[in-house]
Amino acid sequence: MSLLLFIVGIVLFFALALRQSPLWHWAVAALGMGAVCQIVSGGGSWFWALLPGIVLGIFVVPFVRKLVITGPAYAMVKRYLPRVSRTEQEALDAGTVGWDADLFSGRPDWENLLSIRALTLTKEEQDFLDGPVNEVCKMIDDWDTRHNRADMSPQVWQYLKDNGFFGMLIGKAHGGLGFSAQAQSMIVSKIASRSVAAGITVMVPNSLGPGELLEKYGTDAQKDQYLERLAQGKEVPCFALTGPHAGSDAAGMRDVGVVMHGTYKGKKVLGVKLSWDKRYITLAPVATLVGLAFHLEDPDNHLGMGEQIGITLALVPADYPGVEIGLRHYPSGSAFMNGPTSGKDVFVPMEFLIGGTDYAGQGWRMLMECLSTGRAISLPAIGTVSIKHALRVTSAYARIRRQFGIAIGIMEGVGEPLARLVKSAYMFEASRALTASMVDEGEKPSVISALLKYRTTEAMRDRYNDALDIHGGRAIQDGPSNYLFSAYSTIPVAITVEGANILTRTLITFAQGALRAHPFLYKEVQAVQNEDRRAGINAFDIAFSGHVQYMLGNITGSFWHAITLGYFASSPVDHRMAQWYRQLHRYAQSFALVGDWTVAFLGGHLKRKQRLSGRMADILSDLYLLSAVLKRYEDEGCIEEDAPIVDAIARDRIAAIERNFVDVFNNFPNFLLRNAMRILVFPLGAHAGGESDRENHRLARSVLGPSQLRDRLTSGVYITNDPDDKTGMLEDALIKVVAAEEIETKFVRAIKKGQITRRLGRDAIDDAIEAGILTKQEAVNMREADEATDRVIKVDDFAPGELGTATKPAKAKPARAKPAGTAKAATKKPPAKASRKRPLAKTK
Ligand SMILES: Cc1cc2nc3c(=O)[nH]c(=O)nc-3n(C[C@H](O)[C@H](O)[C@H](O)COP(=O)(O)OP(=O)(O)OC[C@H]3O[C@@H](n4cnc5c(N)ncnc54)[C@H](O)[C@@H]3O)c2cc1C
Repeated sequence: MSLLLFIVGIVLFFALALRQSPLWHWAVAALGMGAVCQIVSGGGSWFWALLPGIVLGIFVVPFVRKLVITGPAYAMVKRYLPRVSRTEQEALDAGTVGWDADLFSGRPDWENLLSIRALTLTKEEQDFLDGPVNEVCKMIDDWDTRHNRADMSPQVWQYLKDNGFFGMLIGKAHGGLGFSAQAQSMIVSKIASRSVAAGITVMVPNSLGPGELLEKYGTDAQKDQYLERLAQGKEVPCFALTGPHAGSDAAGMRDVGVVMHGTYKGKKVLGVKLSWDKRYITLAPVATLVGLAFHLEDPDNHLGMGEQIGITLALVPADYPGVEIGLRHYPSGSAFMNGPTSGKDVFVPMEFLIGGTDYAGQGWRMLMECLSTGRAISLPAIGTVSIKHALRVTSAYARIRRQFGIAIGIMEGVGEPLARLVKSAYMFEASRALTASMVDEGEKPSVISALLKYRTTEAMRDRYNDALDIHGGRAIQDGPSNYLFSAYSTIPVAITVEGANILTRTLITFAQGALRAHPFLYKEVQAVQNEDRRAGINAFDIAFSGHVQYMLGNITGSFWHAITLGYFASSPVDHRMAQWYRQLHRYAQSFALVGDWTVAFLGGHLKRKQRLSGRMADILSDLYLLSAVLKRYEDEGCIEEDAPIVDAIARDRIAAIERNFVDVFNNFPNFLLRNAMRILVFPLGAHAGGESDRENHRLARSVLGPSQLRDRLTSGVYITNDPDDKTGMLEDALIKVVAAEEIETKFVRAIKKGQITRRLGRDAIDDAIEAGILTKQEAVNMREADEATDRVIKVDDFAPGELGTATKPAKAKPARAKPAGTAKAATKKPPAKASRKRPLAKTK
């Protein structure tokens, strides 16, 4: 009987905890259990039997609870909570949470995921993609851009300006295209698949910068003055935040503006005396409008906001007196415009502040809000398309290139990286599209955009390494026909900008996620920071009580799903993917538990414990990536052919999640918590199967020829079948090689048998016709495949003196390369240092 009661007690405990039941449910259950125990045992004291229920019941009364539990907890948290700086607070307040909050809750509501609208473009957007975007892709010659000119051609610049590429996010009311996030992401992607430099050039005005800042915060006068001109490309914007001493810690900038009276257009007006020194600014060398971030001070309190107003943004014409646009940087040898800007004691009127004086001191919040959306669209788009481009060309090359008598893609060793390309292409497209859809639904996903930025760009780096490895020397020899090296060399740019990856992974993603997406933590922090103590304790009491229920739910949920291997976890579907939804639920619950304890134990030290924080960020991002993959599979109507890809991705992600949990436990600084978490998350040990060689081999084989699957996996990449184009030649050769494959096998077999002799070139084809091994038509097909293959495997070579400038006859005076984007560039300041005079463009 005692055993039965014990089991009933355990079941009751699990049921209440799993349901995250309120305290009074626990009190009633404890009283009930106490009474039953007393009746069944028939002896002992009723008082002791009912005591647990009575104690819990007393705590149901808010006054008692606050006095005994939440009040002291409030005081303790207040004492230990580190001060959140103003910029940290503004970064936290910027942006919204959505699916990340579901993952943090430990009990994802699948409806919230599956109801996010799947990718849709308007007819106008689709026409733009099929028309002007394809046209400009055709016009771009990447080698000419990065090698000969170190700039896009004047024709490409003009085409982009004339067709509104720089005003995609500007509303139609101001002459912009007013495109959705989804469309912008796809347009930038397609251009970047042709030339990353061109993609970045289009991305920047449509991402964090003057256009977006004016759209959101500009005064009517500013909108009227600039938006239409920006949309038409008559103004080229840049935005300058970073300086020599302020990179990742941008808020620590030394740039300063002082409110004072000065002269503007001959009149004495109130304005700001600005001094700045910025570097790495994209488009600065060709910009006509410079957005600036600086600390605003008002020693004489002209604005009535105190002496230190805070980070403020201004928009200053590049030809305004005192504005210095320096020479060019040369980022990773890429051709997009990038350079420094500076100014000393430049007086600008108040109307130059973005949003006017109303937004003085609000600059950091404005930037963080724009970053939340911009980062969700821009770099994930470039990273994803780069992976898809790498898959497209590598899958073709791996079939065309033969060694040891067979296509290299068939070899298992090559199939391994090729399978990684397949999985990444599917997964990152799923995540890119999901995140862009969230933005279109009005979200500013700050945590998701951060994790997606670092995961996509890291994957871009890894997959390019795979693609280059598979190509061998063909991708290493640079030149006009190298279709990989340009994007490969630009990878560090994507890794570094919009929040360098190490910082984004180890400092921002998990810490910001824990505060913003955790269901109670931020409410508790806000409560203890409330100036009104009584209101603070009341709010803290509600949040803290919820937090305790949440913690109990995660402890029991995590353990329950672990011992049942996720069998009873939830799934919104009943087909083969249900197993992965269940695993996702199981690990979301474990993530919620471990995340909660990590934050509770480390508190303010989380900023220093970056290795733990980074692993938690990886787990969160793997949960997100897997969610996106499952959603894509549903949204696309559960295409049977894709199921093995989804299975393989899910297996990889679950294995990665388990590995990271194990590493978190191994390195957690508290012995008791570490082992408690280990038991609750892996009571039966970690079981993820990891990769399957057979599965990966099949995935690699599935893209080694023209197919719908290959087309779907690489959708959004600019594709042409033109044999004279550097990627078109691959498509052309792939078709011909596949068509001639059986003939080739027959031919090679004949050589091996000695029926015909091996000869340099393919003269032996004639011998094969004579020997009756090949028909004339087969010989034609084989020659066509051969010629196409030769075009593909050929690499570029250069005449002496063609590369480098040192061997050329000395010019009278080296001139700075005049960027094609502006006529003004040539009139800008002469170089300050001799070393900066070296021209970037190699004149032929
Ligand atoms: C090609 C290019 C284009 C750019 N375009 C623009 C632009 O248009 N406008 C603009 O304002 N800026 C621009 N930037 C600047 C860019 O945003 C910065 O380079 C970036 O913020 C990193 O600063 P940093 O290069 O000075 O590196 P640092 O800040 O010196 O960082 C060095 C390393 O330390 C890591 N790190 C720093 N702090 C921490 C921390 N607390 N915890 C963990 N790791 C940390 C970083 O992750 C990085 O790996 C551009 C940069 C490049 C390279």
